[in-house]
Amino acid sequence: MQFSKYLRSVEKSQTLLLNEQSRTLEKGGKKVYKFGFGQSPFLPPQAVIDALKANAHRKDYSPVQGIPELREIVAQFHRRTDGIDVKAENVLIAPGSKILIYAVLAAFTKADLLVCAPAWVSYVPQAHLLGHGVITVPTSFEGRWRLTPEALAKALEARADKKIPSVLILNYPGNPDGLGYTPAELSALADVARKYGTLVISDEIYGQLHHTGRHVSLAKYYPEGTIVTSGLSKWCGAGGWRLGTAVIPAALGNEFKDTLLGIASETYSCAALPVQLAACEAFRFTPETGNYVVQQRRILSALGDECAARLQKSNIRVHKPEGAFYLFLDFSPVAGTLAEYSLNTSQAVCESLLAETGVALLPGTAFGMKSEQLSARLAYVDFDGVAVMEAARRTGTLEPLPAGFLSEHCAHQLAGIDALCDWVAKKESLAPDATHFAAAV
Ligand code: PMP
Ligand code: GLU
Repeated sequence: MQFSKYLRSVEKSQTLLLNEQSRTLEKGGKKVYKFGFGQSPFLPPQAVIDALKANAHRKDYSPVQGIPELREIVAQFHRRTDGIDVKAENVLIAPGSKILIYAVLAAFTKADLLVCAPAWVSYVPQAHLLGHGVITVPTSFEGRWRLTPEALAKALEARADKKIPSVLILNYPGNPDGLGYTPAELSALADVARKYGTLVISDEIYGQLHHTGRHVSLAKYYPEGTIVTSGLSKWCGAGGWRLGTAVIPAALGNEFKDTLLGIASETYSCAALPVQLAACEAFRFTPETGNYVVQQRRILSALGDECAARLQKSNIRVHKPEGAFYLFLDFSPVAGTLAEYSLNTSQAVCESLLAETGVALLPGTAFGMKSEQLSARLAYVDFDGVAVMEAARRTGTLEPLPAGFLSEHCAHQLAGIDALCDWVAKKESLAPDATHFAAAV
């Protein structure tokens, strides 16, 4: 049977695809620096793993919205950590926050989605699947890849049909940029969203991984119009368990919530019950879990800073990260050199880099950047999370990690960064023009 004429145009998500490609290369004996896929290297806390094991026999379907016990614990978690007013009835649990973002977008028969470029890989394909309009708001390296209130207002003003609902997805600490927003920036964005009646999905899945623990929720400034999404995938190291949470403001009304529950009930039914029970343990956020998160912050901030510092020395533009485990690289200072090797697109740069050095990055195009803007995302997660967490604990303090810690415990990660820097340096010194120049001198 041939259905091609009627099939949707949707490719495999680039993050998942690159993960598979890196694995295949590794199996074939190639040394790969797996900086392409944004997966936490850490194991969930032991108590959370134990809770999952203890509940493996809980095999029944559970309520579509999530079990009441977990919804209450998640509501408390947000009240305590974000200082926002959340009740259990406003919390939705699902198999991952990705499907929750999709469900929110699917709640609308028509909508305009506003996203920044760069932004996480799946937002735009989700909107396309649903037939929604997409408005991409460009950002810049100089502007720290931040959405400004002016740019947001301009994009909202320029919409062809302002009666259609507008939905903005904001994600911080950000994937792919690792950067946050200040309270003043959030407050200014909230003012614009409120003025235009824009619904905001605030993807705060990396909130707990703000390197200095200073994540602030947009819902503080725009409680009536902000849906906050999060889950176990990042701070709790359990992406494959598939558990996401969403806080749906009461102000959006029962009709909105019922629409989401309708979509949930007709698609994924519920999150796995044993995972929800393990999530109760995680979101209870005991002192042990708190320590586990603080250790991750110590490791990720030291490693992120070190990777950024090395890259900055080699003519690659990058900002020192504030959270999560990503760096967004801008190769524009070496674009002229790379062009001499016919590396004119971010995909070509990433392909050549992977083939020549084994360093896997995800090209900026996956994040909505133009292909000639030579950019790529680097996920600094290629280390043994269990061993490094143990070593961080053994330092016996919560102070920043001592010098030497990274070269001892994250050597492979740093070797990959050096391989990337050397690749750029070699390209610069051996570029045809440079050779001519050397020959002439
Ligand atoms: N948002 C961002 C920015 C992400 O990086 C991810 C990770 N894949 C998700 C959402 C989805 O996470 P999950 O579905 O695992 O909760
Ligand atoms: N969030 C991860 C990334 O951006 C991967 C998981 C996914 O895309 O679903 O690389």
